Amino acid sequence: MTDYKNYSNKDNNNRDNHRNNQKDNHRNQKDNHRDHKDNHRDQKDNHRNYKDNPNKNNIKKPSLCEVSKKCGGCQYIDLPYKEQLARKQRQAEKLLKKFGRVKPIIGMENPSHYRNKVHAVFDFQRGKGIVSGIYKERSHIVVPVNNCMLEDEKADQIILSIRELAKSFKIKTYNEDTGYGLLRHVLVRVGHTTGQIMVVLVLGSPILPSKKNFVSELCKLYPEITTIVINVNNKRTSMVLGDKEQVIYGKGYIEDVLCGRTFKISPKSFYQVNAVQTEALYHKAVEYAQLSGKETVVDAYCGIGTIALTAAGQAGKVIGVELNRDAVRDAVANARINQIQNTDFYQNDAGRFMRQLAEAEEKVDVVFMDPPRNGSTEEFMDALLRLYPERVVYISCNPETLARDLEYLTGKGQKGKYRVMEITPVDMFPYTDNIENVCLLQRSGR
Ligand code: SAH
Repeated sequence: MTDYKNYSNKDNNNRDNHRNNQKDNHRNQKDNHRDHKDNHRDQKDNHRNYKDNPNKNNIKKPSLCEVSKKCGGCQYIDLPYKEQLARKQRQAEKLLKKFGRVKPIIGMENPSHYRNKVHAVFDFQRGKGIVSGIYKERSHIVVPVNNCMLEDEKADQIILSIRELAKSFKIKTYNEDTGYGLLRHVLVRVGHTTGQIMVVLVLGSPILPSKKNFVSELCKLYPEITTIVINVNNKRTSMVLGDKEQVIYGKGYIEDVLCGRTFKISPKSFYQVNAVQTEALYHKAVEYAQLSGKETVVDAYCGIGTIALTAAGQAGKVIGVELNRDAVRDAVANARINQIQNTDFYQNDAGRFMRQLAEAEEKVDVVFMDPPRNGSTEEFMDALLRLYPERVVYISCNPETLARDLEYLTGKGQKGKYRVMEITPVDMFPYTDNIENVCLLQRSGR
């Protein structure tokens, strides 16, 4: 019997099994990699065959991704990149042109495999065994994924290897209906510049059997992994991460370098998924802020302080506010790591915090705001209109809520007194229909 859970009793039988299993693992591992490459090759061949086929107008072009229909994540998967950008430009203009000039979208040179955060849900499927992948759109059905056009390729390989390790370590996947089983999700984060890799194993209960062996096997396969964290999520919820964490290897976080600054990133902190485009986005945002070195700046919805710390060198001081406790802790550490002394970070709801600033009649010159998809709140924007900073730089990942909020801030809803000077779309999410925009608002007198 090859039960890894009993390996600690060190009987020879088990040790042999372990060794055999290890060999199997490596073999599976190699097979996996071969499959991974074959898949890519097959897909490319399909395309080549299609391109060379004189009859191609009569046959359907093969998709760049074999699971795109089921997954639904890449609405633009089979559009040439130029066409994707053109569509996003049109969409941004349609929603935002009425507020101000929309500049040409900033696209990517190499738009594949840009996601530095990869999430896979684990499941057991009849006939297939342990699979990992994504939830089919608007469902809890798991679509197995071996490689993805968007995701970091190393991260995808790590996830495939964890599938194999789970099999050989006899780790059961979590069953959402019954609540039994252990392995629920795996999250991999790759530092774009540093190459540091964090693996988060999301488990239904805190004990990972043969933890040490599991860690050493995984790190042997991928020496690039710098930290492994267990996250316990025992709730019947669609949230991926639970509250409890246990670091089982390394420091429990990774670092990455963005815009020349080093950032510590914890498992639960938000960090932009496309590092290349984030630099372009922040560059534009800081340019829009037109800082002279004296201003008091607010970075609202600041995450781990990336915008605040990028802008700090050009401002008098920067105040960051963020709801997520871990992210605020990271932001404070990041100021220290980069020896930046003119920033302060607060854990609070951004709307409430802005109201408090307004009530205290604080003087604020520039506000960066980068809310989640559902946009900002009236509480936030009313306080903003009372604080009345010279410039507001609104970064948005949802043009619909951006349009709603711009309506409010530009006075269509009576109170607003801002003018939109310029909007720049940035393609943070190639192959999908998501559009990020950065928008400069200037106050236009009381
Ligand atoms: N500016 C950061 C983070 C942007 S994502 C960056 O570029 O990396 C949006 C952030 O808003 C997330 O970190 C999220 O935790 C935070 N957030 C969500 N709701 C909030 C609220 N009500 N108040 C403050 N922060 C909030």
